Amino acid sequence: MSDVDALKDKVCAQVDAMRETFVGLSARIHETPEVGLQEHQAARWLTGLLREHGFAVTQPVAGMATAFRAEVQGEHARPHVALIAEYDALAGVGHACGHNLICMASVGAAVALHRAIPTLPGTLTVLGTPAEETVGGKIPMVEHGVFEGVDAAMMFHPSRNNWWVRGALAAQGLTITFHGKSSHAAAAPEKGVNALNALLLTYHAIDALRQHVTSDVRIHGIITKGGDAPNVVPALAQGEFIVRANTRAALAGIMASVKGCAEGAAAATGARVAFAQGLVYAERNNNPVLARYFGENMARLGIRGEEPPAHGGVGSSDIGNVSLVAPTIHPYVAITDDAAGHTPEFREAARSERGYAAMLNAAKGLAMTAVDVMYRPGAPDELWAAFRTSLQR
Ligand SMILES: [Zn+2]
Ligand SMILES: [Zn+2]
Repeated sequence: MSDVDALKDKVCAQVDAMRETFVGLSARIHETPEVGLQEHQAARWLTGLLREHGFAVTQPVAGMATAFRAEVQGEHARPHVALIAEYDALAGVGHACGHNLICMASVGAAVALHRAIPTLPGTLTVLGTPAEETVGGKIPMVEHGVFEGVDAAMMFHPSRNNWWVRGALAAQGLTITFHGKSSHAAAAPEKGVNALNALLLTYHAIDALRQHVTSDVRIHGIITKGGDAPNVVPALAQGEFIVRANTRAALAGIMASVKGCAEGAAAATGARVAFAQGLVYAERNNNPVLARYFGENMARLGIRGEEPPAHGGVGSSDIGNVSLVAPTIHPYVAITDDAAGHTPEFREAARSERGYAAMLNAAKGLAMTAVDVMYRPGAPDELWAAFRTSLQR
């Protein structure tokens, strides 16, 4: 057995030894769902465990109270492995995306790695990245240089499939607000400007636009404000939309068209339109070499990756922004056969026996991949060469 294999066995044994702690903390986070930028307890519990195991914790990060950076220094600054922890829940349905499993797999992998190998050749960090579901906490973290010098950025996501490499769409949120003029809807309708009509026209114009976009494009939204009383002309109407496309460049074009729909509706009704845009979630640049290491390590645990379908069926995540600045993987590990993400069924899977088993396997897979990055001769160079090639594509 090679030295690297022996180290991997040691790291996996530490994950097994810590099983109860990891499952217990993940379950606690599941029971205490906190939405984006409100994940105070999850951040406190996770950093508590990291501190207990010798990590130096910095918090807040990039101006976000619930973001953190936990680090153990090794013999040298590089290679630098960053394990990424998401711990935000969804409003209403709780941990229906299973981020309680994501954070524990990454924190667990880091703790196990440090316990197994107290002095690593390079730097090991855990980056606590809040609000994946809402404002994309990784985006300001990337902009603040938190990922600078990272040779491998890794996390896993629970899913229905074992997919080591999967694309994701660029995405951006858009709030459209129409300002009209209220009036008595029966006694003086001619004095009113109906903001709701403008929003409904926008909605239909987007439906028309949808016929003439490429099949990767997704435009979906809801009406959040549509008036206060049926006998008052609505002076304010508001909708929230998300627009997605294969690349940031394509997304910018579609965003302009969607705004055009709203501007046309404003002209038609006399209402004034205002836009508020979210940050751009970038498309995903998977690192094939890092994904290969991860796949080999999961195979060591008896878990085989499946081939994802060539097109469709993808979402968006702020991990895309990380993947444009550092070699990155975001593999999926199955916790259910049929439940889709963001449903009550998926939330239950995220606290099931199978869910926790997948989380512990993911922790092992991530920790063993960190061993590869740290100990395989030439690994960082290979990762960066693949990074540059895939970015050019
Ligand atoms: Zn989600
Ligand atoms: Zn998620």
